Amino acid sequence: MRQYNFSAGPSELPLEVLKEIQEELLSYKNNGFSIMEISHRSSYYEQMHNDAIKDAKELYGINDDYEVIFVQGGATMQFSLLAMNFSLDNKPCEYIDTDVWTQKACEEAILAGVNAKIVASSKDSKYNYIPKIALNNDSSYTYICSNNTVHGTQYKQLPISNSPLIVDASSDFFSKKLDFSNIGVLYGGVQKNAGIAGFACLIIRKDLLERSKNKTMPKMFNYNTYADNNSLFNTPPTFAIYVYAKIMKWIKAKGGLDVINQENEIKAKYLYDIIDNSNFYKAYVNNDDRSVMNVCFTTGNDELDLEFWSKAAKEHNMLGLKGHKKLGGLRASIYNSASLEKVKILGEYMKEYERVRG
Ligand code: PMP
Repeated sequence: MRQYNFSAGPSELPLEVLKEIQEELLSYKNNGFSIMEISHRSSYYEQMHNDAIKDAKELYGINDDYEVIFVQGGATMQFSLLAMNFSLDNKPCEYIDTDVWTQKACEEAILAGVNAKIVASSKDSKYNYIPKIALNNDSSYTYICSNNTVHGTQYKQLPISNSPLIVDASSDFFSKKLDFSNIGVLYGGVQKNAGIAGFACLIIRKDLLERSKNKTMPKMFNYNTYADNNSLFNTPPTFAIYVYAKIMKWIKAKGGLDVINQENEIKAKYLYDIIDNSNFYKAYVNNDDRSVMNVCFTTGNDELDLEFWSKAAKEHNMLGLKGHKKLGGLRASIYNSASLEKVKILGEYMKEYERVRG
């Protein structure tokens, strides 16, 4: 029996996608081999790879002003590569701090030798909101994390900046349509909403690639190498890209990002309503900045939180409800693949647990 999986990432994949992969594992499109076993230069692989890129662009409704590339090393590897590729000599790189992921990105940028600094932070309130600042800046770029997986904060509207916005969307990738007019780079590890671990997908406004065209750095660090070679300069993580390609098709078949977003809003509202209507659970985040992907909450009692998630796992087949170690408490990650039915099963468990312990 499969578990009800609420893990923050890697996370649950849609069952339909898993079944398709299972069917194709021994013989991809009846060709007698799996996609893992053939050359990345073969037409079989290349067709799938190109479809993945085309579908990603179609879902976000972006044109050829943007390049979609696949880079190994996950989102963390991009923390330094983004800085190396897009920093300008005479302009600082500005980071809006919503904790772990933006801090790490800023630290790595400094290690990469660029002038990076935090210009706004929600640290004063333990990161339970998204800092709102007027960005009258002239920087190399403004860096944000659109959804903080640890605290469950999410930008409802991306900030308007004079400088190109770099957005770490690892935990809300392909979850809703975005206004790209201000976005320079949208990127993320794909193992939460768009596939399995193995690479980061970056959607880069082409003019920004000029910034690193003539910079001296190893080829594999330079995003131009990926853009110029359709992310096939060397052997890419073929199986992970194959799963990503399947997820793109799955989202399209569901009706695209607007449909996905509507479903996500409904699922999240369902859980936040239970939390807000109880005197037992408490949400971590301000109403305005709550994530629809990671619902972070607590009973306010460490022992009860521990009992809540361990009982859920042992007795109700619900995985992954323990909060991130930095925050503690409880976290339900309800990415695109989480069904409303599954979320309601959690809701019923929450109500029952409150009835017994509240
Ligand atoms: N950014 C965010 C928002 C994340 O949630 C994570 C991982 N949980 C990362 C970056 C790091 O991703 P990776 O493990 O792919 O390096």
